[in-house]
Amino acid sequence: MSPGPDATTAGAGAALAERAQRVVPGGVNSGQRSIPGLPGLVVAGTGGARFRTADGAEFTDYHAAFGPPLLGHNDPDVARAAAEAGAVLGHMGVGVTEGEIRLAEELCALVPSLEKVLLTSTGSEATFHALRVARAATGRRLVVKFQGCYHGWHDSVSLNVISAPDRVGGHDPISAGILPEVLDATLVLPFNDSAAVRRCFAEHGADIAAVIVEPVPHNVGALLPHREFLTTLREETAKAGSVLVFDEVITGIRHSLGGWQQISGVTPDLTTLGKAIANGAPAGAIGGRADLMELFSTRPGAPAFFAGTYNGHPSVVAAALATLRKVREEPVHDHVFRLGERVRTGLRTVYERLGVPVAVTGYGSVFVTYFMPGYDGGADRAPRTYTDLLANDAGLFVGYRRRLLAHGIFELPLNLKRSHLSYAHADADVDRLLEATEAAVAAALADGGARDLEHASTMGGATRAGAEGAAR
Ligand code: PLP
Repeated sequence: MSPGPDATTAGAGAALAERAQRVVPGGVNSGQRSIPGLPGLVVAGTGGARFRTADGAEFTDYHAAFGPPLLGHNDPDVARAAAEAGAVLGHMGVGVTEGEIRLAEELCALVPSLEKVLLTSTGSEATFHALRVARAATGRRLVVKFQGCYHGWHDSVSLNVISAPDRVGGHDPISAGILPEVLDATLVLPFNDSAAVRRCFAEHGADIAAVIVEPVPHNVGALLPHREFLTTLREETAKAGSVLVFDEVITGIRHSLGGWQQISGVTPDLTTLGKAIANGAPAGAIGGRADLMELFSTRPGAPAFFAGTYNGHPSVVAAALATLRKVREEPVHDHVFRLGERVRTGLRTVYERLGVPVAVTGYGSVFVTYFMPGYDGGADRAPRTYTDLLANDAGLFVGYRRRLLAHGIFELPLNLKRSHLSYAHADADVDRLLEATEAAVAAALADGGARDLEHASTMGGATRAGAEGAAR
């Protein structure tokens, strides 16, 4: 469980970060890795629940790469399976391998909506293809998404994730360079608002190709869905002949082997998967109703083009098979759910002691604390809409996480980001997390946490001028 070889030296991180800045824009390979107030973080090793920086600092990791390593970093069984596959089977890019067949069989057996499934390398590719095939199947133009949900970087869904209060209710693109007509074809509704869904279908139903939703919007922490909201989505899409897509890139496997659809009993037409299915290897999947999946061009002559050089890469497939086997055969969910309950209950006690009004929420292995009054720290009450989250004190949210770093604990210091437990975390980690959180929050309050407010988010809207300028 050691986070890699100790090839680290104090000061090495700054030199590496400077080299990165010279040749990599911003010094990192994703806009979500450039963390305000945390420049020059160079990761040198990972193992289990921990990671080590190039400077030799060690952290217990609750960020978990935004969620993939449900088993913990470099799980030995997954790493061995991937290496063994790589030793005998290179990537061919023609035909199919037995591993791909086994993985598809397994996913179809596990996830209720999956009659057929295709592999991708990322979640974004999966959601992209879900919307493409929905449009191909229906011949319709519009897509519905929900404020606070993130479905990847492609144009149809690159809007209204973490929006400033004055951008909620309108289009709020997260990037410049998107054609206005593409944005116009996406309708944004409030999550958990069944009446808004019914109104939208009454007005636009005949033009709606797809509704895409994170059944639990974890990209803003954790907004638990009212079951009635998910059944309304199911009923309205079925009535209108639209395609219902559950984006289970986060919830799939992590919350249950069958995803949130198994937990809720609401079955979508299409499901997208990623992250935890291969414990960190680059795997995604799109699956669902056979009649829709048969529209992909993997079937000769079918209309919805589908390709990807690395789809079904043997080492990634082996990692996914090993991950699923371990989650099936070992008490992975029991362990992470028990620790998750301990964290959420323990945090409520901590905040009660500190006299800080919070909403501690999450599900299973995922937890998040919003700093907002009105929830009494209670287990049974939680924010349910993005608008509720506007009351969160972003300064304190980011401020205590920055101060946690001094305790060797890493929760991503970005507003509204959730934290994850893995099979590799232990009760002693939870004890330390609770102690350190109490100290970090007390310190943030003493310092005036709101000073960190200007660094609240990296997923807010692009500037209006930037978005419009590039679209021209
Ligand atoms: N869907 C959801 C719910 C996600 O959280 C993400 C990524 O965070 C994606 C899709 C996109 O996945 P990827 O980053 O693998 O492209």
